[in-house]
Amino acid sequence: VTTARILDGRTLAAELRADLSARSAALRARGIVPRLIVVVVGADPASAAYVRSIERVAEKVGVALAVDALPLDASDRDIRERLIARSADPAVHGLMLQQPLPPGRSIRKIADAIAPEKDVDGSNPVNQGRLAFGAGTALVPATPAAVMLLLERSAKWPLAGREAVVVGRSAVVGLPVSLLLVGERATVTVTHRATVDLHAHVGRAEVLVVAAGVPGLIHGSWLRPGATVIDVGTTVVDGALAGDVDFASAAETAGELTPVPGGVGPVTNVALLRNVLVAAERLATSLN
Ligand code: ADP
Repeated sequence: VTTARILDGRTLAAELRADLSARSAALRARGIVPRLIVVVVGADPASAAYVRSIERVAEKVGVALAVDALPLDASDRDIRERLIARSADPAVHGLMLQQPLPPGRSIRKIADAIAPEKDVDGSNPVNQGRLAFGAGTALVPATPAAVMLLLERSAKWPLAGREAVVVGRSAVVGLPVSLLLVGERATVTVTHRATVDLHAHVGRAEVLVVAAGVPGLIHGSWLRPGATVIDVGTTVVDGALAGDVDFASAAETAGELTPVPGGVGPVTNVALLRNVLVAAERLATSLN
């Protein structure tokens, strides 16, 4: 029996979009068209699908989006030069480099070419560093921001003093989510592939965030009864998206649970476009 409350990302995304549309209309009324450039290197089908999903939301909330395509064999220097040129363009408010990059290219050697104030995916080391300070970070990477937007509406909010467990320590999800949870004064355990007895750690979690990319890694019987579970996993299995949490069993023990699809994903796109509006608003203010 399903007893968990479903944390519905599509409904939250629709709510958030209304706020973004109003903010973009306000900017347009001042003659500012909020604009996002997505730099894509090579042609990866998964990337193309992601960019299309951002395009659909951008259109709904009134953000202009352009894809800047570079060839598969573009060098680090080519990519950096393009990012530096786009960063310098006053008509551009948000700039992101689509990942994954082709083999041999490393975001670590490139991301600092994105101006920090336009870095809407929070990839520049300056913005990554700001995350470690907790409060006051303007451009939080989209997926971690989406996790926090869902948690803000959960029964476990505020998180101060809560037992939070994160599964995964990647630079794009697990680690930044851990920093944001610490920023909310949760007691945070970061688990990963080398963790001994994952099951025991998961069993302590009042708030569980799973970003391992392993379908069905977490079984419902592992959960602390009533836990709030955010499933960031999206792996294509037999042509359908699968989360890292076994949904059917988790729905019997969790207090709240995000579905896959329809949980973190739709909120992530909105979080990215929210960053474009934040950047455009801040840039507009700094010009006045
Ligand atoms: P994402 O981009 O979703 O964070 P990555 O593949 O970059 O995915 O990172 C996966 C993370 O999940 C790594 O930190 C890895 O250690 C962790 N992980 C993968 N498999 C397991 C597992 N079986 N148990 C615990 N952690 C795992």
